[in-house]
Amino acid sequence: MGSQGENLPPHVLIFPLPIQGHVNSMLRLAELLCLAKLHVTFIVSDFCHDRLLKYTNVESRFACYPGFSFQTISDGLPEDHPRAGEGFVDIMPALRRVTAPLFKQMMIEKRCFASSTRRAVTCIIADGVLSFTADFAEENGIALVYFRTVSAASFWANFCMPELIEAGEIPLKGNGMDLMVKSIPGMENLIRRRDLPSFCRVDDLNETTFQIVKHESRQSPRAQAFILNTFEDLEGPILSHIRKHLPRLYTIGPNHFHLTSRLAAATKTENSISSGSLWEEDRSCLAWLDSQPTKSVIYASFGSITVVTREQLVEFWYGLVNSGQRFLWVIRPDSIMGEDSGSQPIPGELQEGTKSRGYMVGWAPQQEVLNHHAIGGFLTHSGWNSTLESMVAGVPMICWPYFADQTINSRYVSEVWKIGLDMKDTCDRVIIEKMVRDLMDVRKDEFLKRADDMAKLARKAVRSAGTSYNNLDSLVEFIKSMVSN
Ligand code: UDP
Repeated sequence: MGSQGENLPPHVLIFPLPIQGHVNSMLRLAELLCLAKLHVTFIVSDFCHDRLLKYTNVESRFACYPGFSFQTISDGLPEDHPRAGEGFVDIMPALRRVTAPLFKQMMIEKRCFASSTRRAVTCIIADGVLSFTADFAEENGIALVYFRTVSAASFWANFCMPELIEAGEIPLKGNGMDLMVKSIPGMENLIRRRDLPSFCRVDDLNETTFQIVKHESRQSPRAQAFILNTFEDLEGPILSHIRKHLPRLYTIGPNHFHLTSRLAAATKTENSISSGSLWEEDRSCLAWLDSQPTKSVIYASFGSITVVTREQLVEFWYGLVNSGQRFLWVIRPDSIMGEDSGSQPIPGELQEGTKSRGYMVGWAPQQEVLNHHAIGGFLTHSGWNSTLESMVAGVPMICWPYFADQTINSRYVSEVWKIGLDMKDTCDRVIIEKMVRDLMDVRKDEFLKRADDMAKLARKAVRSAGTSYNNLDSLVEFIKSMVSN
């Protein structure tokens, strides 16, 4: 698999886990590397690729980077498989079973994407949960960098799963959820058992997803370098612990704003937002927001994987309506569990409250929404992209984590960064109403002040000479240094 073309730039292969948050984050990295004049091949599942072409401008956006190309691969699931909710757990086993051998075959048949204008791939930047890429990289002498798209706190908790087991802190066995976790260095007296990444909520340590997450996290040192979408001012203490195991660690986040800011410098245009949406964005909500007063609207969205029961939907609806606040609510078409939600009548008071103060869409242009002057709060599932997007926009959060890293992100939002409230493990209209009132009214100034301070730190990190800015430059230099002519 030797490289060729001494004057050609390094060629990076980027391979995300094929779900919304990971694809978004790694597409942004791809564009950042294109701006640094590297060649990039982006491997994405057929399922995600079809949607990217349908719902975003990726084709025209990347057309100006001649060194960029997409390659598609099966994610091993049928087209109509529900990849949200409980269907999510089928993704990793399918990738291992079907996608891993296809990847190897593709790399060999296509000679690592070598051509007259591109070197064979010189470096693989893989999602840090796809260790089959490490096997290929090692077998073929290709440099490997892992990118974990979650928070440092979440990654570190996953990395420490063996220590949690050894200390008897997991399996959780359903009780003692409010006990403080003791065996994760740097998190003592900070997180409770219920705040651990939800994969730890197992009674049986042989449970498949738990085993996969534990295994993949401990594989991280196989990579020559490691990337996290976070920034030093946000997670510095945890990053110091991670660096003891992964010394070549580049923090380059918040990478959505990093991209916006580098694009602005390169093209002299402000506010270019690069969408990676896998659903059609309903932009009518921006016009609705235009007619709302400043910081008067709470934006509610639970990301791309969360599903809710009809009962939970009704609790949220009552909570939002009874709070008396204006709200913009994203309800994804596939996000209500189990039944035809249209078949049940909606209580009159909810219809009335929504007509006078609410607006609903199936999918929103979230970054634009969060940066709209009318938005004063975010009721979120605490996905890491959503959390960073809210931080950069200076929008305080109410967290209702659904699963995975979200349970620990929400703890950090409320107890460490103090830019929001954590509502995990409850779904009650009275609590929702109270939290919305607290965030948007009673404690509004206090939260807005802290969120604004955090936004300044986040923005500083990606501006010229900021830590994430410098780290991205160092990463590019590292990728260049690994090319053998
Ligand atoms: N998103 C969006 N419109 C929506 C809801 C979400 O564009 O209506 C985007 C959001 O901006 C974020 C991503 O989808 O970049 C969701 O990623 P996150 O990590 O927050 O959560 P996940 O979907 O992985 O649970």
